[in-house]
Amino acid sequence: DFSKRIEVLQTDEVGNLAASFNTLASSLEEVDQKRREFLQNVSHELRTPLSYMKGYTEAILDGVAGDREAARRYVSIIHNETERMQRLVHDLLDLAQLEDDSYPMKDEPLPFAQLISEVAERFELSARQKEIQLVQNLDDEIIVNGDSDRLEQVVSNLLDNAIRYTPEGKPIRITLTKEGTFAVLMIQDSGPGISKKDLPKVVERFYRVDRARSRKEGGTGLGLAIVFQIIKKHNGELNIESEEGSSTTVIVKLPLFE
Ligand code: ADP
Repeated sequence: DFSKRIEVLQTDEVGNLAASFNTLASSLEEVDQKRREFLQNVSHELRTPLSYMKGYTEAILDGVAGDREAARRYVSIIHNETERMQRLVHDLLDLAQLEDDSYPMKDEPLPFAQLISEVAERFELSARQKEIQLVQNLDDEIIVNGDSDRLEQVVSNLLDNAIRYTPEGKPIRITLTKEGTFAVLMIQDSGPGISKKDLPKVVERFYRVDRARSRKEGGTGLGLAIVFQIIKKHNGELNIESEEGSSTTVIVKLPLFE
């Protein structure tokens, strides 16, 4: 219980000490509150697929499913929900590792433009299906320091979101430039944007503007939280700007290799 406070009666050292204790107690209380919220979220996220799985297996066992075709449909739902749980558990473990300070991260010079265009290539098919053009403008001289698998994950999560939210036939612009001692990657989509109110929250774990939509599209609500942690570990910066109704621009800054 971190809610207790000491009454500050003096302005001398003892009083200062009492005040410091109270500040410490407040921050512990906040951490405790965050931890509880996190556990609640995880439980909720796991409960939803589990209840689908339970319901549909029971329907099959009870013979409610009826014909073979219906039973097949039920099994396919169970399969989808299993995959969702698998993704969720994978992302949770990933995030736990990233938040662990002792977890090793590679630190190698990387040609960043090459890494970006390789990831973009993997998205060509899903982009083409929506007639989305990935317009790349990359400075190939740029070298950053980092972990290639992790930085690929950053680009991949961001492009995944950009393509998901961009309507058919609209472009996505990927730009890489130099700014002082930083490499600046910008991914600008032509999606619905994010409101000012939601903007600061989207990197929080499990925060989604539209929960039902994220669920339908298979999102775990952890993608941007993972991106944020990876960039933090690279001593970089993540900024998101948005024009509501027309576009979102995600800006990643990473220190240049020196
Ligand atoms: P997920 O995509 O799995 O829901 P993320 O952490 O990647 O989780 O994103 C969190 C939320 O931020 C999304 O649910 C969505 O509401 C919002 N969001 C992320 N990227 C974009 C984007 N490019 N355009 C509009 N909204 C976005």
